Amino acid sequence: MAGSEIALEVEGLVKHYAIRGAAARGAVVRAVDGVSLRIVAGETLALVGESGSGKSTVGRMILGLTPPTAGTVRLFGQRIDDLDHRRMRALRRDLQLVFQDPYASLNPRMRVVDIVGEPLANFGLVPAAERRDHVTEILRRVGLGPEHLDRLPHEFSGGQRQRLGIARAIASRPRVVVCDEPVSALDVSVQAQVINLLLDLQAEFGLAYLFIAHDLAVVEHVSHRTAVMYLGALVEVAPTRDLFAAPRHPYTQALLASVPVPDPTVPRRPPIEGELPSAVDPPSGCRFHTRCPLAEPRCRTVAPPLRVVAPGHEAACHLA
Ligand code: SF4
Repeated sequence: MAGSEIALEVEGLVKHYAIRGAAARGAVVRAVDGVSLRIVAGETLALVGESGSGKSTVGRMILGLTPPTAGTVRLFGQRIDDLDHRRMRALRRDLQLVFQDPYASLNPRMRVVDIVGEPLANFGLVPAAERRDHVTEILRRVGLGPEHLDRLPHEFSGGQRQRLGIARAIASRPRVVVCDEPVSALDVSVQAQVINLLLDLQAEFGLAYLFIAHDLAVVEHVSHRTAVMYLGALVEVAPTRDLFAAPRHPYTQALLASVPVPDPTVPRRPPIEGELPSAVDPPSGCRFHTRCPLAEPRCRTVAPPLRVVAPGHEAACHLA
């Protein structure tokens, strides 16, 4: 269960990419345009949105893989967005990543004992003589056995590889884990096993998760709170139960309308229409106005701020 200590805090995070070439005339892609988030210890915050919304870029900036254009990232109160490479590496003990594609993140020529043991060696956590036993215990924790110690990544199924990726991520006993679409490449039956593993590890170690995902059915199951991104900005943040029961932002309402429901007679809102506008030249006023069925004239000129609309529930809509 989530506590009250702030594990991860992001303030005004911005990422603009300059477009090269004479014709660009100083144009930038506004991938992320002022995102602020907090996650407390033991909590899962889901970050959702369409492809191109900027959610993965937020994750990469938090992990120090992409430098922010502006804004701050704090891990347990310590600012980490301005660290050099060496200090960022040291910090990885506390801040880890679970990838969407574990195969791409695992060295195909390294054996499991070395893949999972590497963080233990890098951070000097376990003497070399004890490392194999320690890795065996970590593997046990993620549902793999000692018979897997000397295998190579290609000898595993997709679900087992993700367990391996999780084993490596938790080896250093981090306190915050960024999970970037961790189950979207897996079969549905395997997804549930991996999600349950992540939930068990959170309960055991008090991990805070930033869970980046587009599958809302998974998000509803796994997260305490959900933040919705549209075209580089947050449009709604709320306890997951409240957000799914009573979404306040028309974009969230449209996203939820696209989630399959077992009972086809349940009345549904129309799904979202149209393409995501370009992040080079986002719409003026409310960025969602070009697709919003409720748009009013003021929506084209006045950007609605993210404001509290109910306890713990924020939305950026003039009508929320
Ligand atoms: Fe729609 Fe206007 Fe609300 Fe934006 S501010 S979501 S355009 S009603």
